[in-house]
Amino acid sequence: MRIAVVGGGISGLGAAWLISKDPDHQVTLFEREERLGGHVDTQRVQVGGQEYDVDMGFSAYTDENFPLFKRLLDELHVKSQPVHMGLSVLDGRSGMEYNASSVGSLLARPRNLLDQKFLLMLAEIKRFHKEAPHLLEGEGAGPTLGEYLREQKYSSMFVDNHIVPLVGALWLAPVAHVMALPGKYVVRFLRSHKMLRDGKHLQWRSIVGGSARYVEAMRKDWKVAERLNTPVLRITRDDDAVRIASKHGEERFDQVILACHSDQALRLLADPSEMETRLLGAMRYQENEAVLHTDARLLPRKKRAWGAWNAYVAPQASDQCTLSYCMNILQKLDSPEPLIVTLNRTAEIDPAKILARKSLHHPVYDRQSIDAQHQRVKINGQRRTWFSGAYWRYGFHEDGLRTAVSVAKAMDVEWHHH
Ligand SMILES: Cc1cc2nc3c(=O)[nH]c(=O)nc-3n(C[C@H](O)[C@H](O)[C@H](O)COP(=O)(O)OP(=O)(O)OC[C@H]3O[C@@H](n4cnc5c(N)ncnc54)[C@H](O)[C@@H]3O)c2cc1C
Repeated sequence: MRIAVVGGGISGLGAAWLISKDPDHQVTLFEREERLGGHVDTQRVQVGGQEYDVDMGFSAYTDENFPLFKRLLDELHVKSQPVHMGLSVLDGRSGMEYNASSVGSLLARPRNLLDQKFLLMLAEIKRFHKEAPHLLEGEGAGPTLGEYLREQKYSSMFVDNHIVPLVGALWLAPVAHVMALPGKYVVRFLRSHKMLRDGKHLQWRSIVGGSARYVEAMRKDWKVAERLNTPVLRITRDDDAVRIASKHGEERFDQVILACHSDQALRLLADPSEMETRLLGAMRYQENEAVLHTDARLLPRKKRAWGAWNAYVAPQASDQCTLSYCMNILQKLDSPEPLIVTLNRTAEIDPAKILARKSLHHPVYDRQSIDAQHQRVKINGQRRTWFSGAYWRYGFHEDGLRTAVSVAKAMDVEWHHH
């Protein structure tokens, strides 16, 4: 069959890579940008006369919760390295900062230990670890995370300085969105990523030399016709074909896999069905401005408090997630000045220290979108149209690859072990 894939992030790359191995299919991959990767975006920058390949988007995964992605890296012989995934929180209102030894647990600073509120927060973290899993036992949708925390009378210190920064960092979500997340959804994720316990945590990993190395390895000998710098403009479906319009004109395919975001997919369909409009329309996106820079003022003041993720609690309520990734920790890079990716705090960065900037769209999860996620079967594979994308699950790399593998399987293409 002639198969078109729209979007070259992991969700499209995975589908194109797998399906193109089958000699019965010819795959054409349309990508709007000049490069493939989507949220895999490794930038080559110069600092102190040295070159560094720094990830501005996807960088970290675990073997346990990303089994398909691990398998992909193994098959491609792409090297990875263990990284220490700590979370620091800096409260811009009180000036308090602390560093969790591992995402989900906490290593107290001696000075903080003298603070009563901080001690209470430590006790509440333990309580949350113990009690939150009970949420999963309840019937129905259950409370939002905000409702749950209020019902259970957690302190504002625990909410503002622990749960919101942690959950916000995982889903790039601002306070209001964190609170609106269904409690069960959050707890299920935290539990499967072993973040609801003290002591042993999952080992996070990053790709040696930057995430773009795996995209290069996928493309090395693949038989995919790449159409880079080619945004798809419109998709029309007939009884006997799918017509894809781009700047190259209109081309006919037997099937199309939409591996762009839900809102983009909906806009491309010339005549979306009622169900496509309803489900894709329920999954909204939020814009994040990501800046790669070397301004250490965006990290906690004390260097030993730096984590891989550094959440910032803004003095005024913010409708965006304010987070800085320390790429030296995440990618094990040794540079004379720190390499930092900061989300949504651009005005505070010294412009002379900015190396690159990007706008990245991330799904907003709420009851409506999570309800839509469960109904993918209702539109997937209808009228020659398939949907692949991280947004169908938790929004992580494994989720994108998983939907890609499932679409391939539905087309009778299995991923054989080598
Ligand atoms: C700052 C940041 C950090 C992240 N870090 C991690 C991490 O460490 N670990 C993790 O698991 N996840 C991380 N994520 C989540 C990440 O979004 C997912 O892991 C995954 O990369 C999303 O893949 P995707 O293929 O679904 O979407 P995308 O990667 O966004 O790909 C969609 C592609 O579709 C293309 N496209 C759109 N419209 C058209 C069109 N009309 N025609 C042609 N092409 C089109 C786009 O250009 C893009 O390339 C991070 C996200 C962000 C924003």
